[in-house]
Amino acid sequence: MEKYCINHTFSDAHWYCKKCQVSYCFSCVEKKNFKFSKEDNCVHICPTCKRMVEWTGILHISDNVFKSTAKAMLYPFSSFSMIVIAVLSCLGMLFSDNLYINEALFVLIWSLIASYAQNVLDHTIRGKNEAPKFTHIPINKLINHIFMVFKQSMIYLVAAALFIGSLQMNNAVLAYGFLAIFAVILPLGLMKSIITRKFKSFFDLAPFINVFKRTGAQYLVLMVLFIPVITIFHLYISYQPRLITPLICYLMIVIYRLLGQMILKCHKELNYSLNYEHFKDKYSLEALHGFKA
Ligand SMILES: [Zn+2]
Ligand SMILES: [Zn+2]
Repeated sequence: MEKYCINHTFSDAHWYCKKCQVSYCFSCVEKKNFKFSKEDNCVHICPTCKRMVEWTGILHISDNVFKSTAKAMLYPFSSFSMIVIAVLSCLGMLFSDNLYINEALFVLIWSLIASYAQNVLDHTIRGKNEAPKFTHIPINKLINHIFMVFKQSMIYLVAAALFIGSLQMNNAVLAYGFLAIFAVILPLGLMKSIITRKFKSFFDLAPFINVFKRTGAQYLVLMVLFIPVITIFHLYISYQPRLITPLICYLMIVIYRLLGQMILKCHKELNYSLNYEHFKDKYSLEALHGFKA
């Protein structure tokens, strides 16, 4: 497969025709409306042989695991993310000896960063590269967004509570067992429950092998990044809460950026119907070069 469109050598190819063995950009494929199912009502056709072309997603433009991880690590340093981390870190300075204040503070910081991270993911799967602002959540979707963040937080809460609980019972083996299990299932479970918007999808681990095959090392990177999140209570108790808050905020943004990219990469394996229109502006020739094909 070629990285660039056969007709437009400066445009990223996002489609591939198996029969012609040719790669095409967004402007080159033909769009046909079909009613296969409720979601899938449009297919893309090869301009030459008129067969269905295969969406290669961001595969062509996505970098190898080192590059994409490095880029995701730098992502939180963009303008608005930096403000979010800074504000929440300042809130984290208020951690004191008062248990009740600390608990309330923790809930507040967590809700805000989890909410923002979800926003980062929504932005990423729409093909956007810049970090979102809080105002990017449409008001009509706000309730939905809050529910989603709440549900995800419950999953994190269970994972973190099982880990710290086992540690406090002096059962390190059990604790690290829970840590390993959650590190493995969290990336897939979260992706599944986020795209289906259903809580129970978290436990649908059937696509694991296929997703892992497609994402490989990137999945392993996410597993490692999840470790501080699963051990969050332990970190807060054992270390300076003032230092843990910026770390967790930073990590959550990186994690959700990578989760979004993985959803784009293996949307087929995850059974997620991608809205190709989101990528139209970005990859259209007019947008790239200021002229029409
Ligand atoms: Zn083209
Ligand atoms: Zn063809």
